[in-house]
Amino acid sequence: SDQNLLSVYDEEFDSEAKRRNAILSSMNGAFDDKRCSNGISMHYQPKYSLKSGLIVGFEALCRWHHSDLGTISPAEFIPLIEKTKLIQPLTKLIIEKTVRGISENLRANIAIPVAVNISTRDLLDQGLAQFICAVLEKYHVSAELLEIEITETSIIGNTALAIQQISGLRSLGFNVAIDDFGTGNSSLAYLAHLPVSAIKIDQLFTKDIRNPRTATIVKSIIELAGEIGIDVIAEGVEDIGALRQLNSFGCPKVQGYFLGKPKSRLAALSDIRKINNTHHS
Ligand code: C2E
Ligand code: MG
Ligand code: MG
Ligand code: MG
Repeated sequence: SDQNLLSVYDEEFDSEAKRRNAILSSMNGAFDDKRCSNGISMHYQPKYSLKSGLIVGFEALCRWHHSDLGTISPAEFIPLIEKTKLIQPLTKLIIEKTVRGISENLRANIAIPVAVNISTRDLLDQGLAQFICAVLEKYHVSAELLEIEITETSIIGNTALAIQQISGLRSLGFNVAIDDFGTGNSSLAYLAHLPVSAIKIDQLFTKDIRNPRTATIVKSIIELAGEIGIDVIAEGVEDIGALRQLNSFGCPKVQGYFLGKPKSRLAALSDIRKINNTHHS
């Protein structure tokens, strides 16, 4: 009956709300406290050059291992925490972990750029660039080894501030990419005013690339970006078909499960040794 249906919905709503509250309340304070920060770890997914077939970088993706809830995906907890001030200490923790990882790569004789994701609210933080520079200095890592990914939707809400922050980061030597490009319902024209070094074509496009219209859009984005001197990375490459098509469009870089899933730093290093090995001096 309708009565039963209603109580089922209520329960579901209730348990989702409970989970959200559990996540948010256990995050409260967790990232200021070094003892609790162990629950966050970084995984690394390779970015490949289509021309050389080599790994040309990694993206750092966070994982949160919660004592009661198990491992929680960033797709679940980042959108929750992004709406609160907790995102700022979390982002700082993630930047520090990533830069420490880069310094450990260097000690293993591997100098490879690693990209870190930052959130909408982080863009509002005027001290962010300064913080990043201090961390790089602490670990003796240079700016060209750290890249920043910012989602398109966060840029659209605050274009003026985004331009200012991105310019600041670029002038300090960081590469900055627009993440999830094409999902923000924006026009291509605003690329003219954003001083970014790369765009990441959202995986929705890559997964639908068999559709001739989607393929044409992807091809046009790649060509347009090339003409204005912006690098392109296609996300979400899950099969050989998508890879071939992107290659035929001249897409410079690719990322996806077909090429490599996010994994621990040591596993990622072992992959890069295997794949890039023959080209080492
Ligand atoms: P994103 O930055 O666009 O990262 C790509 C996401 O797609 C990752 O999910 C990655 O594991 C997944 N992915 C990569 N290749 C494939 C593929 O071939 N197929 C499919 N289906 N998925 C693929 P993940 O790690 O769950 O992260 C989800 C989102 O959470 C990220 O999207 C990013 O927006 C956010 N996120 C992850 N780590 C961080 C972080 O450290 N800080 C911030 N602020 N956000 C993060
Ligand atoms: Mg990203
Ligand atoms: Mg993305
Ligand atoms: Mg995404």
